[in-house]
Amino acid sequence: MKHPEIVVLFSSYRCNSRCVMCSAWIKQGSAPELSLKQIEKVFSDTLFGKNIKIINLTGGEPTLREDMVDVVRVLAAQCPNLRRIDIPTNGINTQQVLDKIERTLAVLLPTPVKLSVTVSVDGVGDVHERIRGVKDIFPGIRKTIEGLKELSCIYPFLSVSLNTTITKFNVQDLENLRAFSRTAGVGINFTLAALSEIGVESIAKQGSFEIEVESGRLITTFIQEITEQKEMEKSYGEFILHWLKTGERAAPCNFRKGRVILMEPDGNVYACGNFKEFLVGNVLKETFGVMWKRRRSVPGNAGDKCRTCNSNCYMGEI
Ligand code: SF4
Ligand code: SF4
Repeated sequence: MKHPEIVVLFSSYRCNSRCVMCSAWIKQGSAPELSLKQIEKVFSDTLFGKNIKIINLTGGEPTLREDMVDVVRVLAAQCPNLRRIDIPTNGINTQQVLDKIERTLAVLLPTPVKLSVTVSVDGVGDVHERIRGVKDIFPGIRKTIEGLKELSCIYPFLSVSLNTTITKFNVQDLENLRAFSRTAGVGINFTLAALSEIGVESIAKQGSFEIEVESGRLITTFIQEITEQKEMEKSYGEFILHWLKTGERAAPCNFRKGRVILMEPDGNVYACGNFKEFLVGNVLKETFGVMWKRRRSVPGNAGDKCRTCNSNCYMGEI
């Protein structure tokens, strides 16, 4: 039986953004969080930690967790085959983000683990601020990107990029974002907003951000262009284009293969990145090994949910 190699670890639902396509920030304050000690115990399970190669330390805004750097220290210590930690950030609180990332780099310096930091940018200037629901944040985000770039010159194992979630609110701004990334001197990834019941719980906002048919044509042209220009990986570009054309998924999913799992701040583990029916168990109630054996009884075919899912599910990573 395969064991997961990638963990999407929602360390907290605390967030200082109010994104239109997200409900994570609504849960903050009411969502319990695994403590540092509990995280250490979970990853020290040899059936778990030793197989992990990539951890996406996400949220919420992961840098709002006071002990984020210690969480990274624990993960690097308990996962001997870890090769990369991904940290997505909204980049709003420049000083806090740069401080936490710099201290994280110091922790990872003596290890072979690389760090990938992705700053969410959904539009340029006020387009971004409207989508993120917070005014006057764009200049600070620009400074965060500049600071991260400077850190990447000092620490070559740090990679910095931007990520745009495509919704109906930024279809007209995609070319501006592309130009912004060039000016900023960092790469940019474009992903389609996915419907999810877990994590960001975008499904609660369904209908408010989904791409309209007319916009689908604009996005298709844009994705074709950036794929041709090799700014997007060909297989992912084709995946998006197929989904835009048919509404159906045309690629395997690493969650379904059992290679990726999602863990919520309260310790719930899911064998799917989007839907609660694939709950495997809770790491506070049983060991990972016991839980993972039972996963066999989780339906392997999620029917329509998988057929129409547009999540990239770490395509090309394993
Ligand atoms: S999408 Fe991310 S940054 Fe935006 S509110 Fe949700 S957790 Fe916060
Ligand atoms: S819905 Fe299916 S395809 Fe999408 S993440 Fe879950 S298991 Fe993978």
